[in-house]
Amino acid sequence: MSEKIMVCVSACLMGEKVRYDGSHKHSHLLTDILGPYLEYVPVCPEVGCGMPIPREALRLVGNDIEHPRLVTQKTGIDHTEKMQSWVRTELERLAGFDLCGFIFMPKSPSSGMERVKVYNDKGFPVAKGVGVFARMFMERFPLLPVEENGRLHDPGLRENFIRRLFVMQRWRDMFITGKTLGSLVEFHTRHKYMIMSQSPEMYSSMGKLVAAGKQWDMDELFEEYFSQLTSALTLKATVSKNVNVLMHIMGYFKRDLTGDEKQELLEIIENYKEGHVPLIVPITLLNHYVRMYKQEYLAGQWYLHPHPIELKLLNHV
Ligand code: SF4
Repeated sequence: MSEKIMVCVSACLMGEKVRYDGSHKHSHLLTDILGPYLEYVPVCPEVGCGMPIPREALRLVGNDIEHPRLVTQKTGIDHTEKMQSWVRTELERLAGFDLCGFIFMPKSPSSGMERVKVYNDKGFPVAKGVGVFARMFMERFPLLPVEENGRLHDPGLRENFIRRLFVMQRWRDMFITGKTLGSLVEFHTRHKYMIMSQSPEMYSSMGKLVAAGKQWDMDELFEEYFSQLTSALTLKATVSKNVNVLMHIMGYFKRDLTGDEKQELLEIIENYKEGHVPLIVPITLLNHYVRMYKQEYLAGQWYLHPHPIELKLLNHV
């Protein structure tokens, strides 16, 4: 796998003093905890399109919730066209990176990816919209994982987003050896239990797609598979779906484990189901048996080690 995962990020979250008042919104989660694994490409659309620091604060204004205007709060100067023109050029620049995702600054009229206040002409908030830059980015790269910094403090959302980044990195790495049906089959095989933990139905649908792969044009096959993979991974992995997967994996050891070992594993899975222990507990025990009984197939399953253990992302879900 490539060294670090390349992720675009709102520049103020990196500690850059680019906000309207000359301040920053440094996120220690991004720099100190995730920093060792992610390579950031910081972007500040307001400074990028030529606005000074400090500057008058902006907000979204208008009745068209899909296309509100980007306007200065007090003087009412409309910067929409200026911003859009710069974003079009910037998106072409960003397309040149092997980006695996974007972490946006919440609530910003330029960078907020959801729930950004939209005001009417009289200055009252009347709706929730999307920042001008964030909207254009997500339209240009609809399948890239995106998240807001604030939501990353929720353990479940953080785990899901980071897992998607690592999947994206593996997806990109697969292309290094070329787009072949064989590499797609291997990718699908190694992600079997991860996809099942999100959606058994999607796993089945993707399996049929791969099985019929010889009938497809290779580019179209990869495109369709990736679209389905993205849909599956954005679904919520529930406790019951994880329990289903854990029981499936346990089935591989039915001839290896003693009665006591089976009982212990079942109790741990039950404890996870009841919310007494996090997912890392049954996963750790299963990984122990994978090593002990040399289960090669399971050793390759990304579900059992979706991201570096140091991130402790399975300790809270
Ligand atoms: S929210 Fe976006 S536009 Fe505002 S300062 Fe941060 S990076 Fe710049």
